[in-house]
Amino acid sequence: MTNQKQIRKLLIANRGEIAIRVIRTAQEMGIRTVAVYSEADRTAPHVRLADEAVCLGPAPSAESYLKMDDIIAHCLRLGVDAIHPGYGFLSENATFARKVKEAGLIFVGPSATAIEVMGDKISAKNAVTAYDIPLVPGTKEAVEDVAIAKEKAAEIGYPILIKASAGGGGKGMRIVEREEDFEEQMERAVSEAVSAFGNGAVFIEKYIQSPRHIEFQILGDQHGNIIHLFERECSVQRRHQKVIEEAPSAILTEEVREAMGKCAVDVARACDYFGAGTVEFIVDNELNYYFLEMNTRLQVEHPVTEEITGVDLVKEQLRIAEGKTLSLKQEDLTIKGHAVEVRVYAEDPTNNFLPDIGTLKKYQSAGGPGVRMDDGYEEGMEVPIYYDPMLGKLITYGNDREQAIQRMLRAINNFQVQGVETTLSFCHFVLEHEAFRSGNFSTKFVEEHFSPELLASQDKGAEQIAVALVAKLMQEAETAKSSGAKTVAKTSKWKNRIR
Ligand code: ADP
Repeated sequence: MTNQKQIRKLLIANRGEIAIRVIRTAQEMGIRTVAVYSEADRTAPHVRLADEAVCLGPAPSAESYLKMDDIIAHCLRLGVDAIHPGYGFLSENATFARKVKEAGLIFVGPSATAIEVMGDKISAKNAVTAYDIPLVPGTKEAVEDVAIAKEKAAEIGYPILIKASAGGGGKGMRIVEREEDFEEQMERAVSEAVSAFGNGAVFIEKYIQSPRHIEFQILGDQHGNIIHLFERECSVQRRHQKVIEEAPSAILTEEVREAMGKCAVDVARACDYFGAGTVEFIVDNELNYYFLEMNTRLQVEHPVTEEITGVDLVKEQLRIAEGKTLSLKQEDLTIKGHAVEVRVYAEDPTNNFLPDIGTLKKYQSAGGPGVRMDDGYEEGMEVPIYYDPMLGKLITYGNDREQAIQRMLRAINNFQVQGVETTLSFCHFVLEHEAFRSGNFSTKFVEEHFSPELLASQDKGAEQIAVALVAKLMQEAETAKSSGAKTVAKTSKWKNRIR
C-alpha cells in the first residue's frame, strides 16, 4: 500500500528556469518552497522567489548543486517534506533518490530502481524485452573486444553508431560509416565514455539515416496507472542535443500516434514507473519507430505538452509523489492546438554553437498572446561558465502549427539580448526555413540546411531593412518638421540582432 503524505514544504534541488518553474506550481498549490543556490547564483531570481533559500557552497556543481548529503541535511533541519530535483544535476541519480527516501523524505520522481534500469541504455533495452517494443537493430550487451565488436558491426551493416551505455547529453556517441574506421572510432567512444561517465561500456546500433526524434510524455502514479500525454517532436538538434521542440509532431498519423503512445506506456510499465517520464523514439521516413531510451524526470521541453493538453506536469508530479492517484484518464486527454519551444542558449550559432559567457547588458524577453517565457535570468546578471548555458525557453501556442510558428517569429523579433551571443537568430532561421515549415526535416537539419554564412546573410538582409527603415523615418521626420507635426520613432524589430 502506498503511503499518502501531503507535501507542505518542498526543496528544489536545482537552479535557473526549472527551479522557478517548480516554485511557481508549488506556490499555486499552497506548498512552501526552499531554494538552494551556489555562490555564483546568490542574486538569481529563483533564490528570491522561494520562501527560504540556502547556500550550498562555491560555484562548481560538485561543490554545490551535487552535494547530496548537504541537501538532505538542510531538508531535515528546515522541516522539508519533499525534494524536487528538476532536470540535470541529481535528477537521474539513483543513489540520491535512495538517500532521500532513507532520510524519510519524498523524492519527487520515480523509484531508485526505475532510475537505475532506465539510466543505462543497455539495461533499458533488456528491461523492455518482455513487451513488444521495436528496438534499433544492435547488440544486446556491452561490447569490449574490438574484434568481436567489428564482427557485430558487419552483421548489423554500416553505417553504425557506437554508443556509451551510460551515455547522456549526446556524449560518447560515434558514427562509423566504413569498416576501416571502426577501431579508431571505437577507441574514441570508449575513452569519451570513461572520461564523461566513468564507465567505458559501449554498444553498437544501426545508424538510422536522417531520423526524427519523437518522444512521448508519460505520467504514472504509485497505484499502477500509467497514461501518455502525446508526443513532442525534437528533431532540430545540434551536437545530438535539442534546440527546438514542438507538439504535436507535424508528421504522425493518428494510427501511429496511438501505437507509439501504447508502446511508451509499456516501456514505463516494464520498470514499474511512477512520476513524469519521457520515452524517446527515433522514427524513420516510413514512420517506423524504434525505442531509444527513457528519461526518468521532467524534460526541458515539457511546456509544449502542457500547452497542448492543459495539464500542469509539475502539479501532477507533486500529486503522484504524495501518493495520490492520477487526476486524469487516457480518454480525458486530447490535443488542442499546437505549441513550439525554442531554447535560448548563450551560444554562438556562427561559431559552432560555442557556449558564450558574459553580462546580460540587455535582457528583455517577449510576451503577448500565446507567448510563455520560462527563464531563469534577468538583465544585469552574469551568465556563469559553470552550468548549462541555457538562459531560458520561449514557448508559443497557437490554434494550429502555422499560428504557433508565426507567434514564435514575432516573439523572437521582440526578444532583446545584449552581452552574450544566443541561439535566437538560429531559431529564427529554422522557423522561417522551408524544410521546417513543410514538416519535412530530420535530426540532420543543421547539417543539411544551416551554415553560419546563411545566418550572416540573413542578418545582412535585416541590416539593409533597418538602414532603409531609418532612412524612411528620417525622411518622415523631416517632412513632419516642415509641416509642424510630431513623429514618434518606432522600435526596430531587428534590434535584437544588434549587439
Ligand atoms: P543521449 O542520452 O546522449 O541524449 P540518445 O540515445 O537520446 O542519447 O540520442 C540522442 C540523439 O542522437 C537522438 O535524438 C538522435 O538524434 C541521435 N541518435 C541516437 N541513436 C541513433 C541511431 N541509432 N541512429 C541515428 N541517430 C541516432
